[in-house]
Amino acid sequence: MAVRPVLSIGHPVLRQSSRTLTDDEIASPHVQQLIDDLIDTMHDADGAGIAANQVGEAVRVAVLEVTHNPRYPYKPPIPLTVAVNPVLEPLDDETFLNNEGCLSVPLRGEVERYLSVRVRYQDRNGDHHDEVVRGLTAGTWQHECDHLDGVLFVDRVTDPATLATWDEYDAHHRDAFVERITAFVERVGS
Ligand code: ZN
Repeated sequence: MAVRPVLSIGHPVLRQSSRTLTDDEIASPHVQQLIDDLIDTMHDADGAGIAANQVGEAVRVAVLEVTHNPRYPYKPPIPLTVAVNPVLEPLDDETFLNNEGCLSVPLRGEVERYLSVRVRYQDRNGDHHDEVVRGLTAGTWQHECDHLDGVLFVDRVTDPATLATWDEYDAHHRDAFVERITAFVERVGS
């Protein structure tokens, strides 16, 4: 178990565009260890996902998983997924308003995300995957892939007045958001 320190907004590596990995690099002990550490770090922090540059390595790897997440109890489950060299493609222009947090940012805020996206990526064995994800799961994928391009969710917050610390979110915004997003999840199924 190797939980790594998570870098916070302001660290330059979070603003770098991360590098694509070759198949040989994916198979290397260094990258396999990085993937294990990302999973351990995500679990330790109760994150829904984490990107490699959040632990200081500017390579295109992210991991995602949602089970019963205390940070995001309304999120539908995502099986543990290792996404190497992921590429996202929106399926249409339809969007929804999400309220996001990030292990590298001590705030939450409202962000517009595509409702349906095609995701193509390699897993830790280098095998290629091609899937369609929707709703909050699509939002999580967009958030993690943004990290690999040096983009943080705060860059996409359309109304800065929606920014809140976790304590103030819990006190003033959580109930309304959970009610809205629960109805949304029931409608879109994910
Ligand atoms: Zn994040």
